Amino acid sequence: MDTPVERIGIFGGSFDPVHCGHLLVAQAAMEELSLTRLFFIPAAQSPFKPQSAPAPALERLRMLRLALAGQTRYEIDEQEIQRGGTSFTIDTVRDYVDRFPRAKLFYLIGADHVPTLPAWREADRLAELVEFVVIPRPGQPPAKFPSPFRGRELEGFPLGVSSSAIRRRVKAGQSIQSLVPEAVVEAIRNSKLYL
Ligand code: ATP
Repeated sequence: MDTPVERIGIFGGSFDPVHCGHLLVAQAAMEELSLTRLFFIPAAQSPFKPQSAPAPALERLRMLRLALAGQTRYEIDEQEIQRGGTSFTIDTVRDYVDRFPRAKLFYLIGADHVPTLPAWREADRLAELVEFVVIPRPGQPPAKFPSPFRGRELEGFPLGVSSSAIRRRVKAGQSIQSLVPEAVVEAIRNSKLYL
């Protein structure tokens, strides 16, 4: 009997810090795409945020581990942090194609990233290798894929939370309760991040 094809979700980002919007992206993708595995992949440095130094990779990784603790359906892939430098999605996707040659690969992005897709490194090749999956984000127009990208938009659970809003709130001394998991609130406080 044929083994069923694996359906793998790839979710890259700065996760600076991980927040409930990210967790709802993951949940929507799991459910709506019937994923068998979902990998969170923290970037060392995003090509689209060259001016901003993110919090140290190990802190972002630690927060991600805390946020996903006990969630057996999610995995964290540290390859971009280990490679260091600017993290290009095509390098990571090639690794997944090599490791999972028979799997169907879905790359998850928020609606804010859709217009930027043609500027991603090796955009044409990337568009061949993965299907992009867009999660609606409040304030963003519905996804309209620029050629040659193909993909679909999920229903998701649109939530207007962003890492930059979390960082701004911490800096302003405002509460981030319920916007990030409780253990992440504590980690941010203990490590004095974003002050
Ligand atoms: P920042 O505010 O610093 O730009 P961010 O909140 O967008 O950060 P990232 O780690 O850069 O977080 O995002 C990783 C991926 O998750 C991106 O594809 C982004 O569009 C998506 N994403 C983040 N927050 C949401 C959200 N609330 N709803 C849908 N997608 C989201």
